[in-house]
Amino acid sequence: MPVRFLTALLAALAFLPALPARAETPELPDRIAAAWRTDHLSVDARLAIPATELDRIRGAMRTAGLPVYVALVPRTPYLAKNRLDWPTLLHARIGEPGLYLVALVDDNYWSTTAELYRQGGLRGRDLTSVRADDKQRLDLLSDRPAPQVVRTIQHASTAYDGRALPAVPAADLEPERPHRGLSVTDKSDRAVYVGLGIGGFLGFVLTLVLGLRRRGRPKGSGASKPAIEPRNVQLKADGKIKQAERALARLDRRRKKTTRQLDQRDDAYRRLDAARTLRADQPEDVLASAGALVLARQAERIASGAALQPPCFFNPTHNPGTAKVEWSDDVEVPACEWCASVVRRGDTPSGLLVPAKSGLLGRDKPVPYWTLDPEDSPMVATGFGALSDDLVDRITGRKEDVR
Ligand SMILES: [Zn+2]
Repeated sequence: MPVRFLTALLAALAFLPALPARAETPELPDRIAAAWRTDHLSVDARLAIPATELDRIRGAMRTAGLPVYVALVPRTPYLAKNRLDWPTLLHARIGEPGLYLVALVDDNYWSTTAELYRQGGLRGRDLTSVRADDKQRLDLLSDRPAPQVVRTIQHASTAYDGRALPAVPAADLEPERPHRGLSVTDKSDRAVYVGLGIGGFLGFVLTLVLGLRRRGRPKGSGASKPAIEPRNVQLKADGKIKQAERALARLDRRRKKTTRQLDQRDDAYRRLDAARTLRADQPEDVLASAGALVLARQAERIASGAALQPPCFFNPTHNPGTAKVEWSDDVEVPACEWCASVVRRGDTPSGLLVPAKSGLLGRDKPVPYWTLDPEDSPMVATGFGALSDDLVDRITGRKEDVR
C-alpha cells in the first residue's frame, strides 16, 4: 500500500513542471483525459458541433488502424495566453500509444495540433514528413473541424502503416485559394534581384549565361583545386531540409496566420518540396544537392519570416548572395562577401567546381559549374536561382512534363 501511494505521488510530481505556474483552468487536460476513458472523441461542452462533423471524425477514427484520441476545444483567453503542448500533456495522462489530436477553435477558425506516439517509437514514418508531403493540406477548410481532423488522422495512418493517403473530398477544400502561386512579395523580390521585370527576364538569362560561359574558367585557378566533395553538400542539404521542416512546423502551429504568413508558408513549402524532389530524384548529383541546399535554406528563412535571399552565384554552398558584383558587361550577380571581394579585386572566384563531363574538355579537371551546358540542368541555367528566382518552377515543371 505505501509503495503504491508513493508511486502515485511521484507520478503526480512528475507532471507538475508541465503545468503553468498559475493556471485558471489547469484541469482542462485532466478533464479531457478523463473524458477519453469513455469516449476517444471529447467535445467541450461549450461547443455546438453539427452531428455530421462528429460522424465524419468518428468514421475516420474507426478506420485509422491505430488508437486515435481527439479533443475539440474552444480557445479561451486563458488558452490563447498559455500555449499548451497538448499532445505531450495528454499523452502523459493516458500513457498509451496512438495519435493525440487537439483541435482548437477561435471564432470560426479551427487549427489542429497532433502527435503520433508509437510503441517503441520504431515503426513507420514521421508524421511531420507525411504531412509535409501532402500538397492538399494547404487547401483544407478551416471553418469547421472535420476537414483538418480527418486529414490529420489519415496522415497518421499513412505514417503508421504506410497506407496510401486518400484524396481529400472536394467539399473539404477551399474553392479557390487566393494565395496560390506567386505572392506579391515573391514577385517584387524576383524583380529586385533580377534587376528587371519578370517579362524581360528570359532573354536576360540567355544573354547572361552566354556571357558567363564566354568568361569561362577563373584565371590562374590552376590544377590544384579539387572538385567539391558531393557527400559534404548532400549532408549540408539534408541538414538544412530538417531545419526548414522545423521552421515550417513552427509556422504551422501559429494560430490565425495573416495573409502574409499564409503566403510565406506556401512559398516555403514550395521551396522545401522542390529541395526534397532534387534530393530524392538525384541523390548522388552534386548540382542537385547544392540546389536542394539553396532551396531549403530559403524555405527556412521564409518560414521564419525573414526576407528571401539569393544564393552566392559563384558557389551556392557559400553564404547567401548579400552583395552585388559586376560580372560581365552590364550584368550584376549576387555574391557572398568573400566572392564579392575577389571580383572587386578583378579576379574570378574559383566557384563551385564540379567534374567536367568526360570528353568535353578531354580531361577530368574540375570546372566551375557555370561553364556546363545550361540546357542540361536548371541549376546551371538559373545559377541556382541567383540569376532568376524560378528554380522551383523549373524543377516542378520538369517533373510535370515527365508525368
Ligand atoms: Zn561565394
